[in-house]
Amino acid sequence: MGHLQQMLFNEYTNENSELKCAICRKCLSVQPILHNSVYGNICGRWKCNSLGNSKGQNHEQQAYENVARYLIFPCMYRDNGCNAELKWSDVQLHEEACQFKKFFCPLSNNAFLKQGEKVCIWTGEISEFPNHVVESHSNRFFCESLVIDFQRNYTHEREIFFSKVLEDIILVIFHVNDSKSALFCKVWAGISILKIYNIK
Ligand SMILES: [Zn+2]
Ligand SMILES: [Zn+2]
Ligand SMILES: [Zn+2]
Repeated sequence: MGHLQQMLFNEYTNENSELKCAICRKCLSVQPILHNSVYGNICGRWKCNSLGNSKGQNHEQQAYENVARYLIFPCMYRDNGCNAELKWSDVQLHEEACQFKKFFCPLSNNAFLKQGEKVCIWTGEISEFPNHVVESHSNRFFCESLVIDFQRNYTHEREIFFSKVLEDIILVIFHVNDSKSALFCKVWAGISILKIYNIK
């Protein structure tokens, strides 16, 4: 087992490794691991799994998964500096919240831009995002409360606002539905906020 475990970490830097996903080139450490007749061995991360399901035939690799449960895997953001060593069952949750994940500003998306506004090209770690918002998008930042005028004629399909609790970010998105008769509001909170308030 020691040898196999060592190999897994050594193979991480090998671009052609058979122990990596044929699509994202990350470790085969998120289930379901499938053998796809077009791509080859693919991991269960969202993009890979949906690509695999759109092409060719898939065969589950249960024997591999049964062995993998006993192994420790590197985080997919190892190249960005994450040194976490993860049990099979912990990989997915860790990677979703990994501090070293590169994050795109939501204002890189046309959907939220007002006329004449430039696309934001910022990328960085999640922990740096609250400061970026304060520096670059103060027109969408609110501190105490966000006042919504429901009588207002929304010219945009979507509006985004930001706030902070402690050092963590909160995103509020307003979305006018197709018939324009209803306004939806979605709120996202950073991982540490969810932990502090014990929200699942
Ligand atoms: Zn993959
Ligand atoms: Zn990580
Ligand atoms: Zn931005």
